[in-house]
Amino acid sequence: MTGLDTLRPRLPSPVQEVSDPRFARRGLRLLLKRDDLIHPELVGNKWRKLAPNLTAAAGRAVVTFGGAYSNHLRATAAAGRLLGLPTVGVVRGEELADRPLNPSLARCAADGMRLHFVDRSTYRRKAEPDTLARVLRAAGAEEAYVVPEGGSNRLAVRGCRALGEELAGRADVVAIACGTGGTLAGLAAGLDPDQRALGIPVLRGGFLTADTRALQHEAFGGTRGDWALDDRFHFGGYARTSPELDAFAVDFEDRHGVPVERLYVAKLLYGLAALAEEGAFPRGATLAAVVTGRPFP
Ligand SMILES: *Cc1c(COP(=O)(O)O)cnc(C)c1O
Repeated sequence: MTGLDTLRPRLPSPVQEVSDPRFARRGLRLLLKRDDLIHPELVGNKWRKLAPNLTAAAGRAVVTFGGAYSNHLRATAAAGRLLGLPTVGVVRGEELADRPLNPSLARCAADGMRLHFVDRSTYRRKAEPDTLARVLRAAGAEEAYVVPEGGSNRLAVRGCRALGEELAGRADVVAIACGTGGTLAGLAAGLDPDQRALGIPVLRGGFLTADTRALQHEAFGGTRGDWALDDRFHFGGYARTSPELDAFAVDFEDRHGVPVERLYVAKLLYGLAALAEEGAFPRGATLAAVVTGRPFP
């Protein structure tokens, strides 16, 4: 057993209404679903995705994958320290092995994660069985429990269904920032039939509808819930930003006293405000934005 209950997650996470003129003048209520408050170290949707996988790992070492600033790697490393589980992080970018660790990877290492760096072409092919086997062997993690990049697998998607269930009856539209789409896939499945989910991808490429659908098939055997994506708010791709986006995030923090994580949550809130301005939601609607994480450091 992993003793996850000893970590005392704050579940269901709190729902907070904020009063914001950009929504109010369109006749809209804005709620924040504070998943960033689930746990001080295992933050947000990463808790929901990792918890069932840590249980399934049943004390084995956990190996997973991520980029140099991956929230998922940090969450996995923190879980390893809190639960006394060995963790191995396979990191994209061989060249990083020869440099001082950036703050995100340094945190992973401080939490006891063993880091294994691979070149980008190997990293791209890590889902192929031969490549995966080779990487695990090289990382000394052949016996480990494998969690995919971003943590989105069948168990993770099922774990995120609770996020939707916690919001049942609370909002007409639930909006969330998407990386792999795993959280959206689960969330949408947990909502009531008259609620809809809106995903804001933070990566470029337009592949997320297919990926989210595939994750729902894997987790539930078919598509579930009423969900859609709006691909206009990625700001050029992962970790890309603009002065306007940054100013928006700072302003939102000042107005509402809520820390705005920049890679995902800032783009979500910006997109939601833009959609409200466009008249995308009917007057009288209640919107819930999922605050999936917290700024790092
Ligand atoms: C990982 C992460 C997401 C993306 O979750 P997916 O399930 O991969 O779509 C969103 N927000 C934050 C803050 C994250 O760390």
